[in-house]
Amino acid sequence: MNNYTTIIGLETHVELKTASKMFCGCPSNHFGKPPNTQTCPVCLGLPGALPVPNKKAIEWSLMIGLAFNCKVSNFSKFDRKHYFYPDLPKGYQISQYDEPLCYEGYLDTSEGRVGITRVHIEEDTGKLQHTTISGSDMTLVDFNRSGVPLVEIVTEPDIRSAAQAKEFAQRLRSILRYLNVSDCDMEKGSMRLEANISLLQEFPISKFQFPINKNKSQLTKLPNYKVEVKNINSFRFMEKAILFEVERQKKLLESGYTPKQETRGWNESKNITVAQRSKETAADYRYFPEPDIPPMVFDDSYIKGVSSKIPELPQKIESLFIKKYNLRQQYAALLVSEKSLALYASDSFKEAASLGVDPDIVAGYIINQKINIDKVKPQDLVKDIKSKSESKVGDTKVIETWVDEAVKNLPQAVSDYQKGKLNAISALVGKVMQLSKGSADAKVVLNLLEKKLSSSKN
Ligand SMILES: [Zn+2]
Repeated sequence: MNNYTTIIGLETHVELKTASKMFCGCPSNHFGKPPNTQTCPVCLGLPGALPVPNKKAIEWSLMIGLAFNCKVSNFSKFDRKHYFYPDLPKGYQISQYDEPLCYEGYLDTSEGRVGITRVHIEEDTGKLQHTTISGSDMTLVDFNRSGVPLVEIVTEPDIRSAAQAKEFAQRLRSILRYLNVSDCDMEKGSMRLEANISLLQEFPISKFQFPINKNKSQLTKLPNYKVEVKNINSFRFMEKAILFEVERQKKLLESGYTPKQETRGWNESKNITVAQRSKETAADYRYFPEPDIPPMVFDDSYIKGVSSKIPELPQKIESLFIKKYNLRQQYAALLVSEKSLALYASDSFKEAASLGVDPDIVAGYIINQKINIDKVKPQDLVKDIKSKSESKVGDTKVIETWVDEAVKNLPQAVSDYQKGKLNAISALVGKVMQLSKGSADAKVVLNLLEKKLSSSKN
């Protein structure tokens, strides 16, 4: 068996929640609206209709790029991307080709930095609906979505695992929600993921060869193919699709084949990816500059102004929680996933600090007890935690007697634990809690039990 490095790049599309569409005045909120009720000559692609760019959508796209540490071009333009499909009335999509709004950014994950190649703006397409009418199979087109502002965020092939891809996408969504520019609702399609997956074969290392550096952009070369899995509508499916692809491609490579360069889809009922079409190259789209829209020029003071509108972002709050309140990393990461939750946690920690309660315990409560942050006030939550902890018995002498009794009562759990089944200890903790009628401090109980079980082992 050979060793392989998994090479993943992600493309994420998000619909912006601007009031109007990208190039016309129709409302951009299309979800659940009666078909073809939010259209006009521009977004229907009728002859002679002229597009006028949405200033807000451009500003928000720049903001997104800046939030992902991108450079912003002082000059940018729109291009026509040609292809023929019934959901695209003009026969081309207005997009951006060689002069995207933003480029060369990054987003950090716990498994390393992921480079962001570009952030550009384009228009969404219409929607096809396959149905049966009077016994005949038909495809209907709904143009309500046609022309909705769509931002595409493309990464470098820096992602090395399904778990990292998931973390990246979750962090990306959380930043977009903090910016308040998109709902990022994957079920409604306002955030869509595509993963490019390939495997790089690592040859056995001899003393004449250096190992392939797994660090980003230091890979000497990329595989000569990639498989694109399209239209994934949940983080879980993306993780599964990547794991499936890695195994499928490994098998092909092991038997001497190169996987085909193609687009595949995720079949959620069968838990597999299926071939859809062989992949187009850029040349097939016959890109050329959009002649109906003048190029965009942004001066530095405008870019500075956009940058100043970016709120404090989740990763900064996460490190603040860890530094200032000594929170464990998993808690901090979970609490900053939504802005409202982060604000709630921040208020609770301030309260906890003033009442002498450990913020990490408060964080644990918010997460594990699934506190309803709309109903329970931070002050009440912390007061409640404080009074509970004060009524707990923390006296080791008292707890030791319960521990001794539990150990005597549950010899099976004791021997299981000592044979290495570490979770057997939870039965003993439960017994102590029962004996103490819930008054024992669980942390002290666990400590005493661990001490007792390891000392009585020999
Ligand atoms: Zn329109």
